[in-house]
Amino acid sequence: MNIAVMLIVLGSITGGLLKITGGLFFGSNTLFVDALTSFANLLSLFMILHFRRTTLMPADTDHHFGHERFEYVGILVAMLAYSFVAGVSVARLSSLRDYSVGIEAFYLAVASIIAYLPPVVLSRRMSSSMRAYGEFTASEFIEAGVGIIATLGGALYTYLIDFAGALLLTGYIFYELLNNGKSLVEIMVDAAPPLNIYENIVKEAEGLGLEIKAVRLRRLSHMKFHGDILIKGGGNMMEKIPRFKKALKTKYGVDLCVEWEE
Ligand SMILES: [Zn+2]
Repeated sequence: MNIAVMLIVLGSITGGLLKITGGLFFGSNTLFVDALTSFANLLSLFMILHFRRTTLMPADTDHHFGHERFEYVGILVAMLAYSFVAGVSVARLSSLRDYSVGIEAFYLAVASIIAYLPPVVLSRRMSSSMRAYGEFTASEFIEAGVGIIATLGGALYTYLIDFAGALLLTGYIFYELLNNGKSLVEIMVDAAPPLNIYENIVKEAEGLGLEIKAVRLRRLSHMKFHGDILIKGGGNMMEKIPRFKKALKTKYGVDLCVEWEE
């Protein structure tokens, strides 16, 4: 783990601990729910880090299409963690009577947003392959903002403001579950790749004087696709087909099995 990743993880853990303290000891249920989501996020972050090296491994005897799809294990774990957290939050919120929020919860909410500053700044500088961090820290920042408003309102006016914040964040958990579920389902059902991938295949084929009779594609991972194609063409096919395959693989991440007829 490099220094930047360590600082991100440390900042996130600190932020989560500050929030859970505000939730358990100073009465803020917004901070309680927010802390739970932080820990769920952190768990999925660890899974992503854990499988990052695996996704880069080339194909081997037990994974013939490579290991890119290990990326989705992180999403699966995130969903399991979020589901658990959603249940805990709903159980807590449904059993609440009037409660009071200490002003200390507000201070802790402010401290937690400061703890998240290093992760946010650092993740902005990271390469796009670390996009999980970007999403991770951005949502934490928004939730921390809700926490600050809710704890201040809860401490100064009524606990109902804090309760509303907790409901909002619980709703957000279900929204995240839906989002993660969608991307996982897309992989499970072999959704077709975006249209521009087809357009590029047609362009490459036409450049070599080949006519596409049929093509089937599916997404292997974020930027890798796999499928088969039936082409019609003449000329030196023994030379054209390897060139066609190589261009698609190197330029667009498309691994095609080519069949041809004259
Ligand atoms: Zn393998």
